[in-house]
Amino acid sequence: MVDIKKIISHSKEYGFIFPSSEIYDGLSAVYDYAQNGVLLKNNIREFWWKSMVQMNSDIVGVDASILMHPKTWEASGHVDAFNDPLIDNRDSNKRYRADVLIEDYCEKIEGKINKEIQKAKKNFGADFDQAKFIKTNKRVSDYFNKIDFIKKRLTKLLEDDNLNGLKLLIEELKINCPISGSNNWTDVKQFNLMFDTMVGSSDESSTKIFLRPETAQGIFVNYLNIQKTSRMKIPFGIAQTGKAFRNEIVARQFIFRMREFEQMEMQYFVKPGDQKKWYETWKERRMLWHYSLGFEKENYRFHDHDKLAHYADAATDIQFKFPFGFKELEGIHSRTDFDLGNHEKFSGKKLKYYDIDSDKKYTPYVVETSIGLDRLFLAIISNSLEEEKLDNNSTRTVLKLPKFLAPTKLAILPLLKKDELVKLSKKIKDDLKFDFNLVYDEKDAIGRRYRRQDAIGTPYCITIDHDSLKNETVTIRDRDSMKQDRVKIEEVKKFLNSKIDISIWLKKLSW
Ligand code: ATP
Repeated sequence: MVDIKKIISHSKEYGFIFPSSEIYDGLSAVYDYAQNGVLLKNNIREFWWKSMVQMNSDIVGVDASILMHPKTWEASGHVDAFNDPLIDNRDSNKRYRADVLIEDYCEKIEGKINKEIQKAKKNFGADFDQAKFIKTNKRVSDYFNKIDFIKKRLTKLLEDDNLNGLKLLIEELKINCPISGSNNWTDVKQFNLMFDTMVGSSDESSTKIFLRPETAQGIFVNYLNIQKTSRMKIPFGIAQTGKAFRNEIVARQFIFRMREFEQMEMQYFVKPGDQKKWYETWKERRMLWHYSLGFEKENYRFHDHDKLAHYADAATDIQFKFPFGFKELEGIHSRTDFDLGNHEKFSGKKLKYYDIDSDKKYTPYVVETSIGLDRLFLAIISNSLEEEKLDNNSTRTVLKLPKFLAPTKLAILPLLKKDELVKLSKKIKDDLKFDFNLVYDEKDAIGRRYRRQDAIGTPYCITIDHDSLKNETVTIRDRDSMKQDRVKIEEVKKFLNSKIDISIWLKKLSW
């Protein structure tokens, strides 16, 4: 996997992602998707949407607004509890998340463990038994015990809201500020991550409202209306994609942690008591969904939560091996009846579901799958970007995206800029543009044109040459193998559909 700096520079150079308002030096942790980025992002969103809504007769969609009644966020617990513990370093004036400082410290120890393993691998050669080494090597087991001890203490401190304890742990571990190098820390304070703004035209009549920090609440407040108008029976789900906003303390790692980002969430409403079964089902389905993209399975793992959020009775993350290590890509949470129960209390409206079979009313339990579109975008780019060594010792930069996700599906390239070739190429372009997002390019030598398309992940290049004029065929070059097939012009559309149609990937998701 290439490093994050390469991903950032590639995203910029090839029109995927730019820093927001860059002419004013950017805005921290806010990014814009450029001409190729927006197409890739739309394609990823479409795949998620179709996998959820089109493929499942028990799931429908909604598009709720970003601004909601402020009581929503009291009911959901965000006003009181959507906090991160922050700490400042007095010498650098830099602000950190106290829990992240401690987690980073543990990651450094993990790095030391990996170094020991690599060293031993070299020494023992083919006989190396990693599991045995980890068990028997004193230094490595001490490192593991230390991580375990720190993580258990961190979980307990967070559960107890023990801010002073967090500071003491940072001091005890002698964690220094990466900028100033000092341990001159302030006390730890809670910091609410919601952005607020005012609605109303005058000072007296205006009210404070929030930009939604998650899309889920827009689903909860609509659930009964949707259930009734769609005539769905429990279990059923509601899916939504849309912007969410969080005033993150630690804004770093490119689009991994943004202040404005997009979520793709599905809330599945179940009978109380059935939530564990559906939690396990959705865990499995979501992992299969990630595998269906075709990347290495070793890059994904579950990470069950030790500390549960205020609304959950079980929670796991699907973590992905980003260039900076395994991190959360998607959350799967069993949210109990917390949200619906509280909305009922705060709104005074009845939100119970009427179960016609048992003739009983109850508040459904909810299992949620929640993924950040931007994080998924980063995972897909990280998995796809390669610096490939070629036989002639040169390298090519190629973005091996799953073909159906590629921003541009094909490039139409006349071999030479000659009138007859250009004319036929433009005709082919005009025939295919109704079915595929494509580009036409006649500038530069053919090799350079291929490289340009490789770098943005275009799966197929169609070249029109002199034989095309004689026998109505073109060559189709495959991005990954660089092999060329000669195909009849009238067969091109069928050929492409058999390789890049989204239904090929959707068919992998049968349950
Ligand atoms: P983290 O622990 O990384 O802050 P979280 O547990 O707060 O994430 P959730 O509230 O479970 O995240 O949100 C669901 C998903 O939304 C996450 O799995 C992630 O993909 C995405 N997400 C959350 N915060 C951000 C952010 N600041 N920028 C981009 N994506 C985000």
